[in-house]
Amino acid sequence: MSSRFRSAVLLLAAPLLFAVQFAWAKPANEGAYPGTLSLQVDITDATRKIFAVRESIPVKPGAFRLAYPKWIPGEHGPTGTLDGVTGLKISANGQRLPWRRDLEEMFFINVEVPAGVSKLDVEFQLLSPAAGMFGAGASVTPRMVVLEWNQVLFYPADYATNRIEIQPSIKIPAGWTMGTALEKTASGDFGTRFKALSVTELVDSPLMAGKYFRRVDLAPGATPPVHLNIVADRAENLEMSEVQIQHHRNLIKQAYALFGAQHYEHYDFLLALSEHVAHFGLEHHQSSDDRNFSEFFTKDALYLADASLLPHEYVHSWNGKFRRPAGLATANYSEPMKGDLLWVYEGLTNYLGEVLSARSGMLSAEQYRDQLAITAADMDHRPGRAWRPLQDTADQAQILYNLPQAWENARRRTDFYPEGSLLWLDVDTHIRELSKGTKSLDDFTKIFHGDDPAFRKASVDVKTYDFDEVVKTLSAVQKADWATFLRTRLQSTNERAPLEGIQRGGWKLVYTDKPTEMFKAAEKYRKQLNLMYSIGLLTGGERGGDAEPGAIIDVLWNSPAFEAGLAPGLKIIAVNGEAFDPDLLTTAIAQAQKDKTPIELLVTGQDYYATVRVTYTGGNRYPRLERVDGTPDRLTAITQAK
Ligand SMILES: [Zn+2]
Repeated sequence: MSSRFRSAVLLLAAPLLFAVQFAWAKPANEGAYPGTLSLQVDITDATRKIFAVRESIPVKPGAFRLAYPKWIPGEHGPTGTLDGVTGLKISANGQRLPWRRDLEEMFFINVEVPAGVSKLDVEFQLLSPAAGMFGAGASVTPRMVVLEWNQVLFYPADYATNRIEIQPSIKIPAGWTMGTALEKTASGDFGTRFKALSVTELVDSPLMAGKYFRRVDLAPGATPPVHLNIVADRAENLEMSEVQIQHHRNLIKQAYALFGAQHYEHYDFLLALSEHVAHFGLEHHQSSDDRNFSEFFTKDALYLADASLLPHEYVHSWNGKFRRPAGLATANYSEPMKGDLLWVYEGLTNYLGEVLSARSGMLSAEQYRDQLAITAADMDHRPGRAWRPLQDTADQAQILYNLPQAWENARRRTDFYPEGSLLWLDVDTHIRELSKGTKSLDDFTKIFHGDDPAFRKASVDVKTYDFDEVVKTLSAVQKADWATFLRTRLQSTNERAPLEGIQRGGWKLVYTDKPTEMFKAAEKYRKQLNLMYSIGLLTGGERGGDAEPGAIIDVLWNSPAFEAGLAPGLKIIAVNGEAFDPDLLTTAIAQAQKDKTPIELLVTGQDYYATVRVTYTGGNRYPRLERVDGTPDRLTAITQAK
């Protein structure tokens, strides 16, 4: 039975009674939830990573269902931190009430509200997560907390969350400073109280607090205000150079030039710098939860390798938050999300984030091209393309996000991000070519993401779209058969990556025996040695995490390393009879090219040892872009500041 059919049944039948059985239906009630919830969160126990939550929820007597957020906006999957909820107690008028979990949807808690009760008191502790995806990853150190509010609240299950009003407050450790897009109304012994708002807006407005805090004005004297809030485990990690501050100020101006309007009243980047929190970015309308290494601003390679993080999350305020595919704009956090248009939500954001990194000076035109070369080479070494079209990576996103890197090349992962950069470059250069340089994707963004008087009121207004609107808007910018153009690329099972955008941009992908500065920075950032384009091997840390040197993370399907019997999970301990080190292996690859002898590797795994011989004489290969003389250099035009 489809969820659509279930909700149709629901509307005809007695709502609450059936709602308990039909766990995945859309909310039964279309109106506003009567009354205002109140929420008090105490994060002062950061050392033990325990948050204390007290919530009060207006109710009427009878069957009642609470929901804990499951499908988290921006995470595109059922990543809610239910496993961290402990000590749950529900009471009314001072009396404990029994509760029972729903057997089909474990994020639902059923409770019978007795006669004479108008308010439930809910109390629990959230054991802040340690190892999940995104917001469910490590978020607390003894010196900082990043709080995603979806982790610390229950809400009435059968309502849309933008129709439930809540009054939040927070207590942070003494001497700490907080950053958030929420509006403060009062402070006292209880902590800081914020203006009442909808549950949707609250979950869209994370809070960051820390002992070492800095706030940088990114739009001095301008309206709306934009700030970069930074917390770090050590004071010296808050340092930013004048050039870096200027890059971020440029980013704001370049984004306005790109989109022609903004859809927030103020914007706050919330950047946490620590080795002890998960590293990612999570977008919101008026803020973003961004996390990186402690030395992000002080080590050039780190700043370079992840230059697009903040631009990417910032672009999401327009593409992802203001404009969102209908399947991802769910009424509340129990309704499953459909990711089929993630190649727009994330793919276009990936492209525009990188373009804005270049336009704002975070990346030079050359560094932008070097990054594009890595993306192109990665996508061109994906045997999985032969069976899984790009569309399917979006359709199955909620599972693919969580895959290890092992055999990523054969099964593909969330490729709608990197391949999105290639796809939208293809679109951009196609528009530029057909219009003889008079139009570009910038014209699309101004229509698609720009001002719309019908959507000016609330900061969390969502203007949904579908495939047809994308096609229609592209056609309005430049006449072409965009439906076929996009569908061909989305459904392709060609083993070769779509590199037409690079070619139309006046460049081509080549491999040389010396890595680019960007390639070296990416290896350093990820703590990996990337030999995927030569012997077909990736060693080091799983997605930048700690790993023993020589640990094999991935092996390219049918590559020389694959043919030699190597696989993820094994570890290289010696190269041609010498103890492993990364330089030794690249030197051995260069040597094998000269003397045409196999590279001998001693590998181990699960108490097993073996000597394998990798037969490969092609030398080291690193991607970069090379100019095609006599063609228009559209790539350079794309990266120029507006
Ligand atoms: Zn994103």
